Amino acid sequence: MFAEISRNSPNCDPTVPHERLGVVFHHTVITFEETIALMTDPARKVSYHCVIAPDGTRCTLVPDEHVAWHSGVSSFRGRAGCNAFMLGLSFAGDTYVAPLTDAQLASAFEWLEPRWAHHGWTLDWMTDHRQVAPGRKDDLNPAEWARLHAALATRFGKTS
Ligand SMILES: [Zn+2]
Repeated sequence: MFAEISRNSPNCDPTVPHERLGVVFHHTVITFEETIALMTDPARKVSYHCVIAPDGTRCTLVPDEHVAWHSGVSSFRGRAGCNAFMLGLSFAGDTYVAPLTDAQLASAFEWLEPRWAHHGWTLDWMTDHRQVAPGRKDDLNPAEWARLHAALATRFGKTS
């Protein structure tokens, strides 16, 4: 089990119930600590549901039940505005500079497992910021997305 901390981000919408249909993966570029500072600053208007440090430590920033502000102008499976229906899970660091660590992947799976079962998720509801905001965002590095996607398929199966 990886360490898990909680810092409430004001950058969310608690008034609309979150649909939790799947997950948009991100990387932060900046460090874990810098990410927490940024996301708890109300002037910044950005947040993830959770961010994962290179050592696997997770920080919950917005409860799953609330809409976090991680994807901005985006669309997935024919629907605009991913924040309303997709959770945002982010890896601290820059996947163009360094690959995801084994601890980050293991911690992400620890976060995903209970949610996967509870929400009845399927692999085709997993995506990343680059794919939901093409030309505007570049996270994750496609090679790291491919590695993560393959690990998800191994763990959770390829069925849709
Ligand atoms: Zn992103």
